[in-house]
Amino acid sequence: MILVLKDNASQAQIDNLIKWLKSLGVDTHLSVGRYQTILGLVGDTSGLDEDLLSSLDFVETVKRIQEPFKNANRKFHPDDTVVDIGGTKLGGGHFQIIAGPCSVESREQITYIAREVKNDGAGLLRGGAFKPRTSPYAFQGLRAEGLELLKEARKETGLPIVTEIMDASHIPLFEDVDVIQVGARNMQNFELLKELGKLRKPILLKRGMANTIQELLMSAEYIMAGGNEQVILCERGIRTFETYTRNTLDLSAIPVIKELSHLPVVIDPSHSTGHSRFVRSMSLAAAAAGADGLIIEVHNDPQHALCDGPQSITPDAFSKLVPDIKAILDIVGKELG
Ligand code: PEP
Ligand code: MN
Repeated sequence: MILVLKDNASQAQIDNLIKWLKSLGVDTHLSVGRYQTILGLVGDTSGLDEDLLSSLDFVETVKRIQEPFKNANRKFHPDDTVVDIGGTKLGGGHFQIIAGPCSVESREQITYIAREVKNDGAGLLRGGAFKPRTSPYAFQGLRAEGLELLKEARKETGLPIVTEIMDASHIPLFEDVDVIQVGARNMQNFELLKELGKLRKPILLKRGMANTIQELLMSAEYIMAGGNEQVILCERGIRTFETYTRNTLDLSAIPVIKELSHLPVVIDPSHSTGHSRFVRSMSLAAAAAGADGLIIEVHNDPQHALCDGPQSITPDAFSKLVPDIKAILDIVGKELG
């Protein structure tokens, strides 16, 4: 349920209402937007008297929300959420490119790529330290050492770091990570999501390869229900009958999510297509379709990459792509960074 408040609602009236609702076991979320102030109600609202709420002289309207996601719902928060990563803004007109290798492989590799992508316009550095591999015999990542190397690359370049967590028991290791990524395979690891909800740190939540948009939003809701509202959604391709690409990039997820939710949406053209030669076109299409950012795998030596080489573009290809993304951002009214 949401209450649209009148312009003249006083802070004391709002505070009293919030207190009264809390005594009835209903949590609230206040969103002071550009045009409207909205009080979102979370919890069991079935016992609330809608007529009584409507009759309050500082309440404009009372609406029931049909969707099961509340905090992530645009009706709760009409303005776009801008996630602030230590001053680096993502969403609400700020477009960010997250670039870097699939996996951190060595100090030289990660610092070299970090410098290259930073020079070309990336706003954040990606790199997996804990890798979710289909085969237990494949490279599993440098784990804790990989996190340390990412931090060194951050120190060198100033780029905030984005890296994947696979287990809640690793959270202490991620304390100094700027954005924690939840991979496609863990999108419905609800215990992990609940623990991440207790943090006050941006979370990049990837859509599971066989999950609907509503399920993605429900997973975001798990994080937000714990009070962590800094969630970035990522479409990274879903499984379909098509085998020519690694997954099928659901670009229509961008306008759909934008309609349903206020959270920023980032597109991953690398995991969705699985081939470096398709990364450029899908990146441009994503920017044109209203995405708030991209997460792109970049490797200086894709042929010898320890993970996801075939879908990784080179720093050179990355540097040619960024100006064209900027040209599209001009048209859609967004800024890089
Ligand atoms: C990754 O970002 O390297 C990754 C494993 O992505 P996904 O979870 O989308 O497969
Ligand atoms: Mn990868």
